[in-house]
Amino acid sequence: MIIVLRSGATSEEVDDVCRRIEAMGYRPHTIRGELRTVIGAVGDDRGKERLRALESLECVENVQPILQPFKLASREVKSEPTIVEVDGIAIGGRRLAIMAGPCSVESREQMFEVAAKVKAAGANVLRGGAFKPRTSPYAFQGLEEEGLKLLKEASRETGLPVVTEVMEPEKVDVVAEHSDILQIGARNVQNFSLLRRVAETRKPVLLKRGMSTSIQEWLLSAEYVLSGGNPNVILCERGIRTFETATRFTLDLNAVPVLKRLTHLPVVVDPSHGTGHWEYVESMAMAAIAAGADGLIIEVHPRPAEALSDGPQSLKPERFAQVMARVRRVALALDREA
Ligand code: PEP
Ligand code: MN
Repeated sequence: MIIVLRSGATSEEVDDVCRRIEAMGYRPHTIRGELRTVIGAVGDDRGKERLRALESLECVENVQPILQPFKLASREVKSEPTIVEVDGIAIGGRRLAIMAGPCSVESREQMFEVAAKVKAAGANVLRGGAFKPRTSPYAFQGLEEEGLKLLKEASRETGLPVVTEVMEPEKVDVVAEHSDILQIGARNVQNFSLLRRVAETRKPVLLKRGMSTSIQEWLLSAEYVLSGGNPNVILCERGIRTFETATRFTLDLNAVPVLKRLTHLPVVVDPSHGTGHWEYVESMAMAAIAAGADGLIIEVHPRPAEALSDGPQSLKPERFAQVMARVRRVALALDREA
């Protein structure tokens, strides 16, 4: 249920309503909007009649059921878009979030070269995988802690914040220490203990869509992080499995306007994994921004032919600069900046 307060409700009144909600066995989540505050009461819906009684309070405008199965992620609870602040960058704001870098951190030389080049081309977040979720146990698994250190060094050198994947609850603290955004990969979108653990850090989370996850399931995964007390969730569409084999995955750009309707969370798109081939990245990057995405995450490697993972879909830095120039023109047409 959501308890909508009258505009001008005081913080004492908000606290009083929260206490009453708790006393009824619900968890209150206060969301302060520009015009009014709403309080989501999360818990067993069977007690909703008791919550309805809160309408008798002067500061309460009304008490309504939340119709979607995801609650805190829904537009019903929060109509204004969420902006996730990362090191001075407002993800979900007018300026696009452009995350770029290699699939895997491979060496200091590779990381420093790519970081400087993606920054020069206009990226505002550096990506790089240190723990890699590889389909085969024989494939390169990442430089692990050593990779995290290199990422942090490249971040210090360029001033770009870092997004990197965390695959296990036990590694959340060390990954959080070395990064600014925790990436939950497609294969872990329904790893609920991992989601609960990243919620505890309160760090921004980039939650990728699973390759067989419906939008509703994906938003319920976001709900694990939000209800765990971490409001800083960024959703990332990265392609789903379909019968089509001409591309690695099918980038579901329908998800962008659908998510914009269902949720207030920022949405970014990954045209690299979504297509699996560097030649298609530019078109789908432009299409994603045209569809209303708040940003992109793109794989860039100084020498894709030598990449230890995802070489075929990685852009050379010069090509990335060209993609950025075209994305910028699309952004301008939509009154956004890149
Ligand atoms: C990645 O970002 O390199 C990655 C493995 O992504 P996904 O989880 O979307 O496959
Ligand atoms: Mn990759």
